[in-house]
Amino acid sequence: MVEKKTALITGGSGFVGTNLTQRLLGLNYRVLSLDNFYSSDSENTELFTNNPDYSFICHDVRRPLPVKEKVDMIFHLACPASPPVYQKDPLFTLETAVLGVQNVLKLAQKNNCPLFFASTSEIYGDPLSHPQKETDWGHVNPIGPRSCYDEGKRIGETFCREYARLGVDVRVGRIFNTYGPFMNPKDGRVVSNFINQALAGKPLTVYGKGEQTRSFCYISDLLDGILAVINLGKSNFGPFNLGNSEEVTILKLAKTVLRLVPESKSKIKYLLLPIDDPRQRRPSLRKAVKVLRWRPKVSLEQGLEKTVSFFKKNEKRFL
Ligand code: UDP
Repeated sequence: MVEKKTALITGGSGFVGTNLTQRLLGLNYRVLSLDNFYSSDSENTELFTNNPDYSFICHDVRRPLPVKEKVDMIFHLACPASPPVYQKDPLFTLETAVLGVQNVLKLAQKNNCPLFFASTSEIYGDPLSHPQKETDWGHVNPIGPRSCYDEGKRIGETFCREYARLGVDVRVGRIFNTYGPFMNPKDGRVVSNFINQALAGKPLTVYGKGEQTRSFCYISDLLDGILAVINLGKSNFGPFNLGNSEEVTILKLAKTVLRLVPESKSKIKYLLLPIDDPRQRRPSLRKAVKVLRWRPKVSLEQGLEKTVSFFKKNEKRFL
């Protein structure tokens, strides 16, 4: 019998972590999940506790990781990632990003195993070039309200690069806006805000005039992308943009959500645009398509329908 592989997921109870856990268990991996529930929900871990291939450690990645067993691959997702949440305690966010990545890199070095580092489109800041290519250096305010996250992830990439030079097999994925089941409806991201506002009959809060754009990737496509990165035969640092290139204005997103929840009586309410909110964002997928042979399959409309139906089905837990 072939021995099952063990995947360590930091941030395993978050939105991406929960979906990745589900996917990997379905693919016959053992999953060791690690989280401190700072921005995630402990109920997400309860989904898996009866599975003998799942184990969980409550741990803060700012401290060295207490992982004694051998792991075959690591997915480093742990970090608050929604703007209102990562701005709540900027020093905590910075420390999580800067100390967490070092602790995880050291563990990958010890295990001699591949590591997927969850970087972000925020690397590009308020981008000057469009769509964003992996070769773009970004346009980031180093002292603004978003910088604890943006700069934290940028220095994370730098740590990854330097450990890669020392021989650690680290691979970097720059994750663009992603949505789907198990988003935390209270973390203030636009898709979960709009859907839950529409379902509750509350106004949809569009920031600014809603002219800013984003490109939203459905979670199953993102997981395919992350797995394509970790399964690359030989070590390949990347970085790889992982996102969907279907770009929409936030106002159009609000109108689409209202159309998909026809029973809703919600209207649109315009609020102030947050400081340093990027005006546009869309990944160039040329490199991902060429090297990973991956591209997203789920359209925004299809993904939103699935997400609306998830929140409706789980109304008691999430609303
Ligand atoms: N946004 C909005 N209403 C909300 C939440 C967010 O209009 O209730 C806007 C936000 O200003 C940004 C975009 O939606 O332009 C995406 O925001 P999110 O926080 O989801 O992620 P970001 O891409 O900014 O990291």
